[in-house]
Amino acid sequence: MMEKTLVILKPCTLQRGLIGEVISRFEQKGLILAGMKMAWLSDEVLSEHYTHQKDKPFFQRLKDSMNTTPVVICCWKGVDAVSVVRTMIGATNGRNALPGTIRGDYSVSVQENIVHASDSIETATVELKRFFNDDELFSYDPVLLSNLYANDEI
Ligand code: UDP
Ligand code: MG
Repeated sequence: MMEKTLVILKPCTLQRGLIGEVISRFEQKGLILAGMKMAWLSDEVLSEHYTHQKDKPFFQRLKDSMNTTPVVICCWKGVDAVSVVRTMIGATNGRNALPGTIRGDYSVSVQENIVHASDSIETATVELKRFFNDDELFSYDPVLLSNLYANDEI
């Protein structure tokens, strides 16, 4: 199924000059860019975004790390995009993430792990609403669609 998923390039990625590298990974894979912007996330938004971690000892330091700089927020589209992107980013802990994954190639940390990506279709829907207005997500004709997918895949 054609899906949209949310990716946030974290402050560590901005500071290390890896924004272009990471975006290139998704472009080269064949994912379609449906939205992108830069924003400085507030503690309130981060509390909502990381609510599943609110009882963990690292909750506050995670949120603090996420608002040391602005972040780059993207929406990527493709068949099974949610799971494709999760596979591409690798395990949460950069030290365990396999080489060839984004975290495996660029991170040595659990917290400073380059990207956030939605972990299910349901989460993607909620997270895209959290970070994008309707008019910030774009639908256009990807001219190479027939070179990315067979007819019956889309
Ligand atoms: N995190 C952390 N310590 C941990 C687990 C997670 O600092 O022991 C941070 C890490 O930055 C991770 C984020 O919390 O990306 C959200 O955790 P989640 O389990 O949702 O991992 P993800 O979905 O990002 O792989
Ligand atoms: Mg998560």
